[in-house]
Amino acid sequence: MLMLQAQGDDRRLWRALRRTWLPTMVPRRLLLLRGPRRAPRVALTFDDGPDWLTEQYLDMLDKLGLRASFFLIGRQAEAQPDLVRAYLRHGHEVFGHGYSHRRFPTLTEAELQDELARTDALLPPMPLRLVRPPRGALDARTLFRCAHFGYTLALWSLDSLDHRLTDADALLARLRHRPPEGGEILLLHEGQTWTLSALPGIAALLRAQGLVAVPLSELFDHG
Ligand SMILES: [Zn+2]
Repeated sequence: MLMLQAQGDDRRLWRALRRTWLPTMVPRRLLLLRGPRRAPRVALTFDDGPDWLTEQYLDMLDKLGLRASFFLIGRQAEAQPDLVRAYLRHGHEVFGHGYSHRRFPTLTEAELQDELARTDALLPPMPLRLVRPPRGALDARTLFRCAHFGYTLALWSLDSLDHRLTDADALLARLRHRPPEGGEILLLHEGQTWTLSALPGIAALLRAQGLVAVPLSELFDHG
């Protein structure tokens, strides 16, 4: 769920950003919401790992032939460096999701810089310099501060709602009702047995839509 903390001018800015940039947002800009619509590709993104289910997620994604992007909480990555390496071994991409999962708009500039840098130091370099703000919390100041520190804020175009729908069937029903389209970024979470159980169904849904799951950096390849 996207939570905007600001009111008034920031809300208008947010609406303008979505309207202007939603169709073809590219790296090195401020905000990433989706890839090109004409691409038969979709990016599965998983927030809040690594954790006790990470290895099972990786095995399941292997079995299904899916590659994804993971947004990791810094302090959890620090505690489990083996799992950070495991994502890469399995062909996925990893990016930061804050060190402590505190909402970026509540942080001072120095605190935000510290959250970004501490997490970055734990992760290997990636083709894109992305960060996903914890809980999607965002305001104009956060947007420009992250850009100043060299990051694109990576959000999503389709929320699976797996943080609310705690049942694999309900989650799949939601995605059948609103299936991913070409170029979309799908928000999912780690550490949830129902999300893990839904992955085969999600893979089938993507196949039916003629879509291939790719890591975020490949969402933009080949136009
Ligand atoms: Zn999160």
